[in-house]
Formats: sequence, structure tokens, C-alpha cells
Amino acid sequence: EADLAQVKGLIRDIPDFPKPGILFKDITPLLGDATGFRTAIELMASAVDGPTPEYIVGTESRGFIFGAALAYELGAGFIPVRKPGKLPADVHSAEYELEYGTDALEVHRDALHQGARTLIVDDLLATGGTARATADLLRRLGAEMLGYCFVLELTFLNARQQMTDAPVTALIQY
Ligand code: IMP
Repeated sequence: EADLAQVKGLIRDIPDFPKPGILFKDITPLLGDATGFRTAIELMASAVDGPTPEYIVGTESRGFIFGAALAYELGAGFIPVRKPGKLPADVHSAEYELEYGTDALEVHRDALHQGARTLIVDDLLATGGTARATADLLRRLGAEMLGYCFVLELTFLNARQQMTDAPVTALIQY
């Protein structure tokens, strides 16, 4: 409880970023706080129950920060899911809807073996579009999805309702 309060206290609200009317949750104070960052990773690690993931799958770019640290903590490998054109070898690509238009995410086709146990990690769950596109890529790779793990969840967007394929964990809910 005290640990969660510490993590929560290190996330700040930035009004009107990146656009007017949006209240942005800024996790950079958490990253910059040595004990807070460690606590967040330990809390994420203890939220992982059941089989140990073989791979943590992190989404560009804040999912890399939490995902890589969690992979290290759990003794798992790390797989980056990136914006188009960044990964050098053959990729699978998944499109997803934005408020205006579409975007895409990519993963290396040879990133993992069939049936590999994977956990998707990102800093924040908003509409769930990013997470669902990442899950889509993992399905195409033939991975087993153990779940999704986030630092923050914006519950009023109801993303969970559309993420029924695997358990969703978030340390903090707004
Ligand atoms: P979604 O696809 O709508 O769920 O948006 C989640 C993605 O957008 C994640 O990769 C987040 O890093 C990013 N994101 C959206 N809103 C925020 C925010 O308020 N703070 C930090 N990241 C955000």
C-alpha cells in the first residue's frame, strides 16, 4: 500500500498535452526516482502470477523502459514492438485506429518460437488500441499470451471490455 502510494505520488498530471483538453499522465518523475522506479518494477513483478513469461513484449517507447526492467527482474527476454520502419529484419505489421486515422506497429517475424509464453507491458492503458494491436502481432507469431501489465489504467475508457483474451493488470487506476 505504502509502495503503491509512493509510485502514485511520482506520476504527475500535465493539462493540455499533447493537445488541448487532454490530461497527460507524466511518468518521468517516477523514472527519475531511484527507489520509486525500483518499487514500480517490483510491484509489476509481484503482480505476475502463474507461469513465468519467457518474453516481455514492450511497446515503443515507454513500454521499452518498464518492459526491459521487468524482463531483467523476471529473468525473461525482451521483445520490442516498434513504430513502422524501425525494425531491420522481416516484420509482421498490425494497423490500429487512432482518433484521427490509423497507425501501425511492427514485430520481427522471428522474435519468438511457437507457443512462447509472453506478457505485454506498457506504461499506460488508455483506449487499448496499442495493446490490442500488440496482441494481434503476438497471435500471428503463434505466441501464448499470459496477459497484459500496465503501470496506469484510465478506467473511464473501458479498454478492458475489449481485452478478454488474457488477464489485464494495472498497478494504478484512474
Ligand atoms: P491507447 O492505445 O489508447 O491505449 O494508448 C496507450 C498508449 O498511448 C501507450 O503506449 C501510452 O504510452 C500512450 N499514452 C496515452 N495517453 C498517455 C498518457 O496520459 N500518459 C502517458 N502515455 C500515454
